Amino acid sequence: MYYDKAESLSRDEISRLQLSRLRTTCERAARSRLYSRKFTGHGVRPEDVKTLDDLRRLPFTTKQDLRDSYPDGLNTVPTEKMVRMHVSSGTTGTPTVVYHTASDICWWSSMVARCMHMTGMRPNDVFQNTTSYGLFTGGLGMHYGAERLGCLAIPMGAGNTQRQLKLIQDFKVTALHIIPSYALYLANFCAQQGIDPKSLGVRIALVGAEPYSEETRRRLEDIFGFRAFNSYGLSEMNGPGVAFECPEQNGMHLWEDAYLAEIIDPETLEPVAPGEVGELVLTTLCREGMPIVRYRTRDLTRILPGGCPCGRSHVRIDRITGRSDDLIIIKGVNIYPMQIEQVLMSLPEVGQNYLIELYREGPIDQIRIKVEVKEEYFVEDMRSLNALKQKIAHKLRDEILVTPKVDLVEHNTLPKSEGKAQRVVDNREPE
Ligand code: AMP
Ligand code: ZN
Repeated sequence: MYYDKAESLSRDEISRLQLSRLRTTCERAARSRLYSRKFTGHGVRPEDVKTLDDLRRLPFTTKQDLRDSYPDGLNTVPTEKMVRMHVSSGTTGTPTVVYHTASDICWWSSMVARCMHMTGMRPNDVFQNTTSYGLFTGGLGMHYGAERLGCLAIPMGAGNTQRQLKLIQDFKVTALHIIPSYALYLANFCAQQGIDPKSLGVRIALVGAEPYSEETRRRLEDIFGFRAFNSYGLSEMNGPGVAFECPEQNGMHLWEDAYLAEIIDPETLEPVAPGEVGELVLTTLCREGMPIVRYRTRDLTRILPGGCPCGRSHVRIDRITGRSDDLIIIKGVNIYPMQIEQVLMSLPEVGQNYLIELYREGPIDQIRIKVEVKEEYFVEDMRSLNALKQKIAHKLRDEILVTPKVDLVEHNTLPKSEGKAQRVVDNREPE
């Protein structure tokens, strides 16, 4: 029933494995320039890790640490032993690099294969990867996983939607890896071409790499007739394969034999109470070439209480509600973009794309939301459009507690990026 016997480990077995792997990880990490300095600075040695609670004695690692260590300050083996690297550009500043040994690639692929199998993918599935290859880890990461599972993997890459669709149709693709914003775009594209997305015959979609709401998942499942499974990962922790939904589609199992998870309060850095939302902190347990200890992901989530009916004992994390750094503060009110998406995607008149703009009117911060309207609702009658605008603004106010300005635009008119969507544009002048 399971792909890997690690999926059915008991809690005790997981804890024992984690402790032994954590100790190995610390011993390896201490060989890198960054951790030899950090461990010394913290007055902690790898041999001080005697129980899992000792994790808290270890220093955190931030994105800035990775930048400062550019290009190879976290490596624990000579470059000759490495077989791949991924670079994440981020928005500003020095990029971050993650190196992998052959063994690292091997276990990463097997983790991804495990996730895929958990969603119901099998060797006879035809898998098309619609995300960009190259440095983005969702390309090669998913590809290697699909091959490992034994699927026929089509490395289509991002964009070129016409070709994307042709391959799906000609090769009877049954499973897709797709970013949520692109899946919404693909739905529009099918409509334009007069293709019923359900006729494509895709039964499983692995959807992740950027935040999306339950409402978007439902919308995608309705349009395409597939089951959409949430996929969470980040380059620093390899990429995809960190946490994934099982057939219950209720939280993502975070593979605890490979990652040690903590949820902390981003202000105090102390653990939150069980079940509370906080920042996810991850430690690699299997990585050889570049282990990372207590990495602050900035992603906000919580550990779901209770066991999962699928029988897997690995903890489940909730849908990522946002990043601690994408909090928008308008008129003193805290807003996460995901709250806005949740409202928009629950409204049948709203199309597949939207854009949040922050601007300043005199001294006051304002929020404007440009919303694509579905073709059938984009009528010429001003009164109906104004009513729709008001309805959207009111629904949003109920959720985010400030009334945004709403601009309705025709479908397919907002900018569409090839990779992760840029949902928020901040036009406020720096103070
Ligand atoms: P990157 O390392 O560039 O691939 O970006 C990783 C980041 O993408 C994560 O830290 C999250 O902020 C975001 N991300 C990835 N998967 C998901 C997901 N399923 N839901 C929400 N955010 C995600
Ligand atoms: Zn489960």
